[in-house]
Amino acid sequence: ERIDIIEMLQDICEEAQILSGEQNHHITLETDEDAILYGHAEEIRSAFSNLIFNAIRYTPAEGDINVRWYSDTNGLHLEVHDTGEGIPPEHIPRLTERFYRVDIARSRNRGGTGLGLAIVKHVLNRHKGHLRIASTVGEGSTFWCEFPHDANKAQYERMHEML
Ligand code: ATP
Ligand code: MG
Repeated sequence: ERIDIIEMLQDICEEAQILSGEQNHHITLETDEDAILYGHAEEIRSAFSNLIFNAIRYTPAEGDINVRWYSDTNGLHLEVHDTGEGIPPEHIPRLTERFYRVDIARSRNRGGTGLGLAIVKHVLNRHKGHLRIASTVGEGSTFWCEFPHDANKAQYERMHEML
C-alpha cells in the first residue's frame, strides 16, 4: 500500500520521545516533501520503530537522535543517527543475526530480545531494500535503510493487476 512516510515517522518519533521520558533525548526529524513508499505499512513501521527505539535505548540521557528521510540518485533512504555508545566494529556484521546482542551483561537490563535488527533485515529484503550500518565506539551509530526508487511501486502495481 501507499505509505505516507512523514506521518509514520512523526508518529514513531512521538512514541520515541515518550519512551525516552525523563532521559530527555533530543529527537529531530527531517523529511523530503514527497515522502511516499509503496510497501507493507505495518512491516515498515516495525522496522523503522526498531531502529529509532534502539537509538533511544542505546544512547545515554540527553543524547541526540536524528531521523532523516531523503532521496538521491541511488534511491530512497531512512537515516537514523544517534550519539550513543556505539558498536565495536567486529560486532557489526553479526547484528542482524537473531538474538545477537553486543554485550549481554550491558544489554540485559534494557529489556530487548535481540530480534529487532533481524526483523529489520527481513522486512527490507521483502522490499528490495538493504540495511547499512556505521558506528564509532563512544561517538554513536548511524543506520540506513535504502530502497530502490521504483521497485516498490512496480511491485505494487503488479500486485494489483493480479487481483
Ligand atoms: P529487540 O529489538 O528485540 O527488543 P535488541 O534491541 O537488543 O532487542 P536488536 O534491535 O536486534 O535487538 O539489536 C541488536 C543489538 O545491537 C543490541 O542488543 C545492541 O547491543 C546493538 N545495537 C543496536 N542498535 C544500536 C545502537 N543504535 N547503538 C548501539 N548499539 C546498538
Ligand atoms: Mg532493538
